[in-house]
Amino acid sequence: MMQSIKSEEYYVGNLYQRFPVNIVKGKGCKVWDKDGKEYLDCMGGYGVALVGHCNDRVVNAITNQVQDLITCHMSVYNEMRLKFLEKFALIAPKNLRKTFFTNSGTEAVEAALKFSRKFTGKDGILALNGGYHGKTFGSLSVTYNEKYRKSFLPLFENVKFVSYSEMDSIINIVSNPENKIGTMIVEPIQGETGIIMPPQNFLKNIRNICTDKGIVLIFDEIQSGLGRTGKMWAGEHWDVEPDVMCLAKGIAGGVPMGVTTMRSEILDCLKIGEHSSTFAGNPLACAAGSAAIDALTEDNLVENSSKVGKLFKEGLLELKAKHKIVRDVRGLGLMLGIEMRFDVKDILLDGIKHGILLLYSGRNILRLLPPLVMDETEVNKSLGLIDILLENEVKRRIG
Ligand SMILES: *Cc1c(COP(=O)(O)O)cnc(C)c1O
Repeated sequence: MMQSIKSEEYYVGNLYQRFPVNIVKGKGCKVWDKDGKEYLDCMGGYGVALVGHCNDRVVNAITNQVQDLITCHMSVYNEMRLKFLEKFALIAPKNLRKTFFTNSGTEAVEAALKFSRKFTGKDGILALNGGYHGKTFGSLSVTYNEKYRKSFLPLFENVKFVSYSEMDSIINIVSNPENKIGTMIVEPIQGETGIIMPPQNFLKNIRNICTDKGIVLIFDEIQSGLGRTGKMWAGEHWDVEPDVMCLAKGIAGGVPMGVTTMRSEILDCLKIGEHSSTFAGNPLACAAGSAAIDALTEDNLVENSSKVGKLFKEGLLELKAKHKIVRDVRGLGLMLGIEMRFDVKDILLDGIKHGILLLYSGRNILRLLPPLVMDETEVNKSLGLIDILLENEVKRRIG
């Protein structure tokens, strides 16, 4: 264990907050370390293990595809890619008909920003305080957190950040032609920043403003999409459809893949060569992606996310009533946050000891993004373990 930690650190630098656990195997909501110790995975690979670790459908699809063809550029046609696109069309918001393939979340956002710029001819962008959209230069320009931005300035200049409560100021900014606002980018529920929900009418209001002013509304559903919140798209909770939607994380059962999907006229305004990606739409990712969509739809994972998510949240609210160190519990489906009064690092480390992996947001928020295959027994087991972790934290803090 110590040996592999030391050796990996020697090569990879110090870019990730890392935890002392070495995972070698996963199935469903469980993972195992080198010594065979089992963990309940409420971290879910930052939400990538959406349909469960090593989902049978995904494993079979990859195993079959890998025998036939692994790479295939977009400049030629491929049946597996078409199969994915046809399945995806059945779950995508109905006005979003055209798709650009990427290999990660930040690339899906980059594509969205470029396409919107070309479509509107305007370089001004409105983004949200607390928003997270990735770390390449374009995505970083619309990401709020100073900690990620400060060493890489200057970023795009014409980006304005607003808070949920500043509806008047949003209207002022978009109404001033000097700001040239052509794009607004929003996470329907903010993930990285700590499972932050928008006020009830916010998304509807900005949808109306964007429609009114000819602004392209981008929903970054990279974390909240694909059933995570108990509906296929988080935007559905407020009955709002964007013009462009970005997806990645769990879309291909753990294989790297992203998509930017949008209204036809936006993608249709681009010319050959104006954007591309070498790995885009490769048959391996498309096979895995088709299988992941089958898992979501045929194994009823979206309904399950809603059902067990409610149980999980109710249980967490009981824990909040019991342990005064919990400040807030929030979220929808299996996208849940527990805001604490203190730094959560000790809780995460104690979790590893007790066989549960948790994720953090900022310093004091525990984030739960377990696979959507989680069942009631696993929810109850997770709650039991979190109860113990909170109890231990109380002892450490208060004695
Ligand atoms: C994870 C995430 C991204 C970035 O995805 P990468 O694949 O890490 O580039 C962007 N937006 C949101 C909302 C995310 O959760």
